[in-house]
Amino acid sequence: MKKILILGSSGSIGVNTLNVVRKFPDKFKVSGLTVASNINLLEQQVKEFNPEFVVVTDKSKARELKSKIDNLCEVLSGCDELVKVSKQRDYDILLGAIVGFAGLSPTLEAIKRGKRIALANKETLVVAGEIVTKLVLENNAEILPVDSEHSAIYQCLVGENLNEVEKLILTASGGPFLNKEKSFFENATVDEALNHPNWKMGNKISIDSATMMNKGLEVIEAHWLFGLPVEKINVVIHPQSIVHSMVQFVDGSIKAQLGLPDMKLPIQYALTFPERLQNDFKRTDLPMINTLNFFEPDFDRFECLKLAFDAIKIGGTAPCILNAANEVAVDKFINRKIKFSEISELISKALDKIENHSDPDIETIFECDKITRELVSSLK
Ligand code: NAD
Ligand code: MG
Repeated sequence: MKKILILGSSGSIGVNTLNVVRKFPDKFKVSGLTVASNINLLEQQVKEFNPEFVVVTDKSKARELKSKIDNLCEVLSGCDELVKVSKQRDYDILLGAIVGFAGLSPTLEAIKRGKRIALANKETLVVAGEIVTKLVLENNAEILPVDSEHSAIYQCLVGENLNEVEKLILTASGGPFLNKEKSFFENATVDEALNHPNWKMGNKISIDSATMMNKGLEVIEAHWLFGLPVEKINVVIHPQSIVHSMVQFVDGSIKAQLGLPDMKLPIQYALTFPERLQNDFKRTDLPMINTLNFFEPDFDRFECLKLAFDAIKIGGTAPCILNAANEVAVDKFINRKIKFSEISELISKALDKIENHSDPDIETIFECDKITRELVSSLK
């Protein structure tokens, strides 16, 4: 029986994780759940999964929940508690499904304890990949990717030698604006940008998919997870999202992992690796799918993808600046303060204006995140 602490249980990945856990009551037990503020969903989750504790980072929401379910489990509140439970409580696997930079601190604590981290929160690796991967090695921790592309690559690499990898091929659906002209981006609305053709996800990653920053963040994530130079990481557009990613080896052979666009499978794999468990999830019907297409990404229309490649090539704090600027810009777009096309402009400005530090320690990463947020918040 493995005990799981789920950070971000009210989100798209959090809910899908509980959909997996529900199927294997004799394999998994939920030790704790955390949310930012959605206490209505959390209350239902507590009643069904019976965790020992929950954390609600919004303190007034935590009080409200406490008054309702005080007898069912311990209710903790605030961001500090999020880090504390990760550092002190009893669990075997941390499922990191918080969105954004906020996922970094609790993940670091789990790594220091040598835990398995099933990591959806790609921003952790984007902002502090070098520090995180070093800590993982030092503490004998494990990161199992939940991101479908990285899960695919992980699965393709089982039994293989990393030295024999010629390149990683990350597939990208291209998002809702795959076939739109650049001029369309001026007036693209929030609803249009949130309308992903293949996946139902949280708002931030949905906008990242529309700008293709999501794929850029995934290139950086892959670089740190698999320890390969960015020159060996390619992106290919694959609108059907059936081939989740591929690995090409030095003999020219390509291995791919296929499946329906459903996060339950990569989540289950991250929880059960190296085992595979029988499940009743819907199977991929290839004749029904019929056609799989692949083509080159357009770096001219999808400037965020180019900015991400630039940032990881520069290294140091550049990916941290990229991520913080993107988080603020996406938030501004969702709140109708800037146009869709201005997201990449703000990120580009932040990368130009903020000084890069090579080989940053964790304090420098936190400082860089903070000053980038301040700068981008102050820009139009
Ligand atoms: P979401 O917005 O649906 O859920 C985010 C969760 O984190 C919620 O439970 C929310 O309460 C919590 N949260 C948000 N901000 C917080 C903060 N500041 N402090 C504490 N908790 C906070 O997001 P999602 O789509 O589930 O994505 C979560 C992460 O997984 C992201 O990093 C995303 O890039 C990654 N991911 C998601 C998918 C997907 O299919 N949704 C696929 C691959 C990777
Ligand atoms: Mg992905």
